[in-house]
Amino acid sequence: MKGTREEVGVFEAVAPGVGRLGILFVNVFALGEPVGEPGRPWLLVDAGLAGSAGLIRRAVAGRFGEGARPEGILLTHGHFDHVGAARVLAEGWDVPIFAHPLEAPYLTGRSDYPPRDPTTGGAMAQMSRLMPDHGYDFSERLRELPADGGLPALPGWRWLHTPGHTPGHVSLYRGADGVLLAADAFATMNLDSWSAYLTRGREFSGPSPPFTFVWGTAQESIEKLAELEPGVVAAGHGLAMSGEDVACRLREFSAGFTPPPRGRYVASPPVAGEDGVEGLPPSVPDPYARGAGALAWALAGALVAGLMLLALARRRRR
Ligand SMILES: [Zn+2]
Ligand SMILES: [Zn+2]
Repeated sequence: MKGTREEVGVFEAVAPGVGRLGILFVNVFALGEPVGEPGRPWLLVDAGLAGSAGLIRRAVAGRFGEGARPEGILLTHGHFDHVGAARVLAEGWDVPIFAHPLEAPYLTGRSDYPPRDPTTGGAMAQMSRLMPDHGYDFSERLRELPADGGLPALPGWRWLHTPGHTPGHVSLYRGADGVLLAADAFATMNLDSWSAYLTRGREFSGPSPPFTFVWGTAQESIEKLAELEPGVVAAGHGLAMSGEDVACRLREFSAGFTPPPRGRYVASPPVAGEDGVEGLPPSVPDPYARGAGALAWALAGALVAGLMLLALARRRRR
């Protein structure tokens, strides 16, 4: 397994024909053979944070050559950190955006996600106070993923419905060499630990707590992915993991997984249907949102957000 230094602004090799581009705390992937295989189709998987289109375009040019254009942008789900540059990129390249039909309400302006839940506690929960939880409207470019379970233009890959984090969440799997892109079904870093955002330590960890809809379903999705016994695993958050023990570690993580001990949606999840969110459980007391504690969290969150924006601005200037 490689070290924890992250290459900035380039797609890092995860497996043959699979590149990972880290954008602050979230990953974007490119599937398809890179430069040297002209004319071969490729897909962009997820679209990072708002404002990262330039960074993604430069990384794409580095991997596939100037003027390269994907077959489309596949969105594993519609959270703000996975779709930020989707519209700008899809319009610039004039390509479709693919997603699961159950994610469509949140990608066609019909519904927002349930309000983020900072009462789960932990680093991501605190930072989530500053993060959006609204849906997006990509109606004119949105297409359903192929119903046969394959990926557009990329034989060998399958999409797997892995709901729970969101209703239409998908993970991607290449069976021939056991490469799994889990997206936010789980993470390969501890999203609850402040220090993990700096150390980039690799470990299997649950989906982002403040943004996860239905914990029981999320657990079933983790079990389904662990049963694949993948040899290479990359997720929406964290560095890629590979090696002989990865499948075993994922199975252990899956077997020991438990939802957060508290949180608004842990015991009573939101109800969602074809048009999005239909019902929400009542809000719960927020133990972190009172008095001096709230001020401290707000300042810590603002500081982290500021540092991230600064880092992004410096990368974009380069
Ligand atoms: Zn997410
Ligand atoms: Zn995410």
